[in-house]
Amino acid sequence: MSYKVTLIPGDGIGPEVIEAAKICVDSTGIDILWEEKLIGSSALSKTNSLLPGETIESIQNNRIALKGPATTPVGKSFRSVNVALRKRLDLYVNLRPVSSRYSIHKYYKGVDIIIVRENTEDLYAGVEFNAGDESALHLLNLIKDKGFGDFSQDSAISLKIISRPASLRIAKFAFEYARENKRQKVSCVHKANILKFTDGLFLNSFYETAKKYPDMQADDYIIDNLSMQLVSRPNKFDVLVLPNLYGDIISDLCAGLIGGLGVAPGANIGKDIAVFEPVHGSAPKYAGKNRANPSAAILSAALMLRHMGEKASADKIERAVEEIIKENKFVTYDLKIDGDMPKAVGTLQMAEKIAERIKSY
Ligand code: NAD
Repeated sequence: MSYKVTLIPGDGIGPEVIEAAKICVDSTGIDILWEEKLIGSSALSKTNSLLPGETIESIQNNRIALKGPATTPVGKSFRSVNVALRKRLDLYVNLRPVSSRYSIHKYYKGVDIIIVRENTEDLYAGVEFNAGDESALHLLNLIKDKGFGDFSQDSAISLKIISRPASLRIAKFAFEYARENKRQKVSCVHKANILKFTDGLFLNSFYETAKKYPDMQADDYIIDNLSMQLVSRPNKFDVLVLPNLYGDIISDLCAGLIGGLGVAPGANIGKDIAVFEPVHGSAPKYAGKNRANPSAAILSAALMLRHMGEKASADKIERAVEEIIKENKFVTYDLKIDGDMPKAVGTLQMAEKIAERIKSY
């Protein structure tokens, strides 16, 4: 079977890690026609748009994309081009598996957590009012009239929006994913003790959904307690479902448990479209230096193949990444167990070793 996939190198270290992922996918022998498109700063300089219509159309037509990180220049139309892309294509799930299978960490072993982050709402909905703006003053007056308090007229306001439909669909995705992937437990993460209406709605929607999955365990954690327990006993967690902001922060915390952003893959999934990308950003200080760890992008490509039904190839890629990291000979600087940096290899060299290993299976 042959596929057409949109390939978005992105900015900073993006082109290097996405090229590395492409080399590894191509080494599985799967027939993919890559349709290369632009996003972020690199798109702005060539097309005058951070998110060109051509890129959106290509993803809509192919329904699958492999994407590198994008830089959003400050003060240019979007708060974040990534948030805009996810909203535009209604990619409502941000799936981030965290596994110590790819870790060189001494302290945390046996970590195997699936993070299911709601991707469209919460404080990331982009509803913000700048201090002093007419609408901010109007809102502050309304807040005062409603008896919520007399806040300074020099306040900026961001709205936390949580809806019942979005909370139900993300909970449903988490339980379906857990069932399909033979997981035992789904935990909802919230701060409903304080944010009674917004996080309360998220939590209630979770338990309402849980009733339809009697075969799965369901429980919940307040975000501060979860943060402490993740650091002290990460092995007790299985699938976590979180609103957007907590999901963003907790997935970086979990990346830290398994050795950093260089090994943390991700996927943005909607009803019919999915965009696969590493958790990390464009790390501008490493751009063009052949230093970035390509594992997160390569593992994101493995998630993509699994999503396409190419399980055997996805398994091969994950096995090869695991072996190359554990052998610790051909790895980038951030993965060197002994801290022997002069012996670290570059992005491309590590990818080529992984691709060689894939071909040998
Ligand atoms: P970042 O993830 O780019 O970098 C943080 C640090 O993590 C780096 O300095 C580096 O030390 C390390 N790191 C990240 N990826 C690595 C890799 N593959 N190998 C080795 N080390 C790695 O985060 P940031 O500095 O906060 O953001 C930089 C830019 O990226 C910003 O413009 C931000 O908006 C953007 N960003 C984009 C995405 C996305 O496109 N999905 C996600 C996050 C940040």
